[in-house]
Amino acid sequence: MLSKTDKSPLQIVRIFELRLLSMIGYAPWVSSCTECGSTVFDSMCFSFLKCGFLCTKCGEKDKGALRISEGAAKALNYIVHSKMNALFSFEVSGNVLEELGRVSQRYMRDRLEKNYNKLDFIKTLTV
Ligand SMILES: [Zn+2]
Repeated sequence: MLSKTDKSPLQIVRIFELRLLSMIGYAPWVSSCTECGSTVFDSMCFSFLKCGFLCTKCGEKDKGALRISEGAAKALNYIVHSKMNALFSFEVSGNVLEELGRVSQRYMRDRLEKNYNKLDFIKTLTV
């Protein structure tokens, strides 16, 4: 994928991380708030305790939950649920990509119980 596309390597890595975790059984719940079922994507947090979204109201109880933008919430939902052949066919802004990184890196560390550094070479690429 890295060699065949003009997509940002970081975007590919974030998608790969999140999708791989989903495939091995650690799919985060990113369709709605894990507590109340709200689907208002412009006010979601990502809860590492709940392994998924919490709306602003439910998120108040989880101090470690990370506030995310609407773009990041939609991107997470897309990455976890889209068909494989459509997985890389979307664009995200640099800010959203940073948010995805914060979520996926921590989520991956929590789930796998170790740091995963194999893809760190991506940081050395200039894009
Ligand atoms: Zn809620």
